[in-house]
Amino acid sequence: RKSVIRITTGSQALDELLGGGIETLSITEAFGEFRSGKTQLAHTLCVSTQLPIHMHGGNGKVAYIDTEGTFRPDRIVPIAERFGMDAGAVLDNIIYARAYTYEHQYNLLLGLAAKMSEEPFRLLIVDSVIALFRVDFSGRGELAERQQKLAQMLSRLIKIAEEFNVAVYMTNQVIADPGGGVFISDPKKPAGGHVLAHASTIRLMLRKGKGEQRVCKIFDAPNLPEAEAVFQITPGGIMD
Ligand code: ADP
Ligand code: MG
Repeated sequence: RKSVIRITTGSQALDELLGGGIETLSITEAFGEFRSGKTQLAHTLCVSTQLPIHMHGGNGKVAYIDTEGTFRPDRIVPIAERFGMDAGAVLDNIIYARAYTYEHQYNLLLGLAAKMSEEPFRLLIVDSVIALFRVDFSGRGELAERQQKLAQMLSRLIKIAEEFNVAVYMTNQVIADPGGGVFISDPKKPAGGHVLAHASTIRLMLRKGKGEQRVCKIFDAPNLPEAEAVFQITPGGIMD
């Protein structure tokens, strides 16, 4: 039986909101507008996952699937230094792949499963999980097929999380809520519909605050308190 490992986000406030950090054996989804910090959180997790367990890390390697070309290895360096780790060694433990189509994204996951059975991984990042689906199925009448393929991809992610005791961190985009209407001040919702909502164990809604400040709220969890966490994006990664 595998036991849950909680990986620090770099911010104590955000960790507390999450009950200790992002969890293995489950899927954490972050959605929010452009520049809300989704990719910066991914970069910080790339490093913190490699910390020993007693330092709130996962003591494991990281797989990073990038669909938007926004991973920056040079960002990892100051984040590693902030945690007192060797940047070169940290970079060596991040397996990176860029995906260009949804099929490519799916095939990369199949390849990763083989790698994960050989080496101890604790984090899989998919940034973003849905962007390629929105491009590859952009035509009229393609939504049903898109959702079916998306469900397939998500069930792979769940399988990886459970089989290898990995935390999956995936990012999502926001779309205008057609049912929002003029009386709702922020008529935005996460993309992916019920299929994505169902797959995510926990959904984080990120938004911009003042300057480099960001605000995170747990989305759509009636059984959790409606708390918010405020954190900063700094050269050393996510912090309080
Ligand atoms: P998203 O993925 O949600 O679109 P990002 O995670 O890419 O957003 O966040 C981008 C923001 O992160 C930038 O607008 C900037 O405010 C902040 N940022 C990026 N790099 C740094 C850095 N080295 N130091 C401080 N803030 C940074
Ligand atoms: Mg991004």
